[in-house]
Amino acid sequence: MISPPYERTLFYREVNHLTMKVTFLGTNGWYDTPAGNTVSVLLETRDYDIVFDAGNGIAKADRYITQEKPVFLFISHMHIDHIAGLHTLCKFRLKQGLAIFTQVGTKAQLGTFVNEPYTVPFAILPFTTSVTELAEGVHHLPFTVECRPLIHPAPCFGYRLEIDGKVIAYCTDTGVCDNAIALARDADLLITECGLKPAESSPEWPHLNPQDAIHIARKARAKRLALMHFGAEVYRTQEDRQAVQERFGPEYPGLIVTRDDMTIDV
Ligand SMILES: [Zn+2]
Ligand SMILES: [Zn+2]
Repeated sequence: MISPPYERTLFYREVNHLTMKVTFLGTNGWYDTPAGNTVSVLLETRDYDIVFDAGNGIAKADRYITQEKPVFLFISHMHIDHIAGLHTLCKFRLKQGLAIFTQVGTKAQLGTFVNEPYTVPFAILPFTTSVTELAEGVHHLPFTVECRPLIHPAPCFGYRLEIDGKVIAYCTDTGVCDNAIALARDADLLITECGLKPAESSPEWPHLNPQDAIHIARKARAKRLALMHFGAEVYRTQEDRQAVQERFGPEYPGLIVTRDDMTIDV
């Protein structure tokens, strides 16, 4: 007979080996182009569907999720390329509702944006919603989330999720900073931005070039690095993005140059 402690060990090991699907719904920074929609990333975990940011890519989430699980949405900041897709929420039928998390001081801004005269207000969407402000630090939501501010002209949060025995870090829009490295420490996957061309810098409006992103991933000892939020002006075609994979993939084998509707297992 299997004793209870052994059963618990088995369960723990099973949780530790769960695979989640990560789908890049939108991979463009700033505006849509034929290369992609603005940013949104979907994690399909055992118990929840989790979305980072609500750029126009979020409208495609119903191609992937059943809408049966609770959905969590983490907003990095209020720039339009991260919230523009919120006006498409009215097409969803999320059976267990939507819990939105955003940094302290931004709940009222979201309430203004998702409201008349711009779109259907939260209060009359065809499913229940909640908006919760998160302070910098660690929260148990029921999975563990760590939030830290990044370097950006608008206040911007990076997130680190620990769920199903995996660590996923989501850090966009930012320059190189210690908080991005801290959030990505030993992550199974770091999702970050590639706003700039190789070796390009923009001190007045910080973003990352491919070398910066690899630097953060290496410092953090992240196992894999997914680049998204490609600058709409800079990476106009998939070939422009692929050139990054070809040039930097050999030096960082965990590199994944994303495109819209790409799904990876983590
Ligand atoms: Zn952005
Ligand atoms: Zn931004």
